[in-house]
Amino acid sequence: MQLFRALWVCLAVALFAAPALADTGRRDAETESFVRGFVRFLAYHEAGHLLMGQIANLNTHPDWSAADREDYADKLATILLQPDADDPDGIDEIISAVAGWLQVDTSLLENQPHAPPQDRAYDILCLVYGSDPASFAEFEEILDPSSDCTGLYQAMREEMDSVFRDYGDEMGHSVAIVYGPPTGGMEAARSFLIESQVAEDLKLDLEADFYLTHRTTIQAMSCAGKAKPDTFYFDTVRAPNPENDHFVITLCYEMIDARLKYGMRGFEDEEDQN
Ligand SMILES: [Zn+2]
Repeated sequence: MQLFRALWVCLAVALFAAPALADTGRRDAETESFVRGFVRFLAYHEAGHLLMGQIANLNTHPDWSAADREDYADKLATILLQPDADDPDGIDEIISAVAGWLQVDTSLLENQPHAPPQDRAYDILCLVYGSDPASFAEFEEILDPSSDCTGLYQAMREEMDSVFRDYGDEMGHSVAIVYGPPTGGMEAARSFLIESQVAEDLKLDLEADFYLTHRTTIQAMSCAGKAKPDTFYFDTVRAPNPENDHFVITLCYEMIDARLKYGMRGFEDEEDQN
């Protein structure tokens, strides 16, 4: 744990050294920036599951365990969010995701397929470092020298380019975005999500980089009473004709609301229902 405490200090320095956003008068700017980065990572993690299901058929791959799929979804999310060295906002956001995992109270995590939060944090940092070791040299203090981060990054990048991405001119299905009504006091969380543009950015990334073969929706909603509320998840709604299957990423307002109010502690992790 010593290592991760050191990492947290160094991340906190990196995060808060960034220029503060204008104060909205409602919440402090650091919290907003932190939550935005974490929410973006979780949304892109679900997009990883979506791409694995819609394009590569990995969600039913017999050799893959649930933990393998979770690990892979994190890797896809990291590559999609990979910041350039001269993009301070992008770096802040991915570091927020790392810091978010480091703050998770692991005693609350039970029987779930994701790797321990500290491992997820480490893997994100390793891939970001591997994308540009010279620019992200300060991560070397944290990373184990025996981790081949550059090799991991290159292998993942190549796999993404050969298996997932589509460089043709033709566009597949477009992605629908639906913001459901904010019942149960979720107005602020809904507004935050809309202001963050996380869903819109994800839609553009999916449409531009991939050839979507099926109907696809990002829906934000109040989940209480309908699904486990403190979560984001991915689901494939099966149709009698598989061509009409509907791929849905759900972003629960309650998860965003809780992070804005209480930060990351007590976070129960996202869970996939696919
Ligand atoms: Zn997952």
